[in-house]
Amino acid sequence: MSAKSVVALAGGVGGAKLVYGLAQALPAEQLTVIGNVADDFELYGLHISPDLDTVMYTLAGIANPETGWGLAGDSWQMLDMLVRYGEEGWFRLGDRDMATHLLRTHWLAQGVSLTEVTARLACALGVRQRLLPVTDDPLATLVDTVEYGTLAFQEYFVRRRWQPVARRVWFEGAETARTTPAVAQALAEADLIVICPSNPVLSIAPILAVQGVRETLQQRAGRCVAVSPFIGGQAIKGPAAKLMPELGLDISVSGLWNFYEGLIDGLVIDVADTFQIAGEHKAVLATYTLMKTDEDKVRLAKEILDWVETL
Ligand code: GDP
Ligand code: CA
Repeated sequence: MSAKSVVALAGGVGGAKLVYGLAQALPAEQLTVIGNVADDFELYGLHISPDLDTVMYTLAGIANPETGWGLAGDSWQMLDMLVRYGEEGWFRLGDRDMATHLLRTHWLAQGVSLTEVTARLACALGVRQRLLPVTDDPLATLVDTVEYGTLAFQEYFVRRRWQPVARRVWFEGAETARTTPAVAQALAEADLIVICPSNPVLSIAPILAVQGVRETLQQRAGRCVAVSPFIGGQAIKGPAAKLMPELGLDISVSGLWNFYEGLIDGLVIDVADTFQIAGEHKAVLATYTLMKTDEDKVRLAKEILDWVETL
């Protein structure tokens, strides 16, 4: 495998699984992760960055293995007390996890950028790969729903458990949010960009919506491949297979190609979807993409790294 610098675009739990595999397959200095920040929100005055934290905890080896998000062995005493005060407590904030949100909020209030905050937190946790928020500017996913009108992302995703029918998804702030210099440089210089099997609409689209990302991807030096989050036409977890058709988006293999049109040189799909590959000779790798164990994650990452050499 000769790619010297690999950039992964990742959301939360699905993205972090492949990021973990890439981190085992590559020397730390060769991997940069660009994370989604459109899930970020404020709760009780705290700045929460769910996707960055999921990737950070995963790379640090301290993520909760059952959920994929939050910290292994965390407790919920603070949340229980909030509920005792009459709060709904629908967003799960673990006791130890709180330290991350407290420090992030504290440093941001001092004028430290989210990029620097993320680097400090990750460094302290022993993460040696680079983890970059795609932008330091405000960016927020909004979902217009049939039942409740426009919902803030976490209201839709966590509180309403993505059950409302979506009419439209957009990213508030995308017109002005710019990539950080570190992100622009990492994308331009990468030998390989991997779009992780994250939710295309909720995790990858907000990264692509930041000013400069699409342009830089189109002018990149290296290759770019995407990994499908679908297996047998179903999402492993979360709303992708429900939400995308609601928005008129096709979740078949060709639908995913169209979604990433002009950006990718290759697409990794599950063997269960091989039958969908049309006659035209597109660069598709069909393999086992379900990542249950750490071995699955590393095997898939290595397979992808080997396969891109043949593109
Ligand atoms: P979130 O931000 O925590 O919702 O996570 P992501 O957006 O990063 O990932 C959600 C997507 O990951 C879902 O669409 C899932 O189908 C996909 N996913 C989760 N686990 C796997 C897996 O083991 N293999 C593949 N191919 N996709 C997965
Ligand atoms: Ca997310």
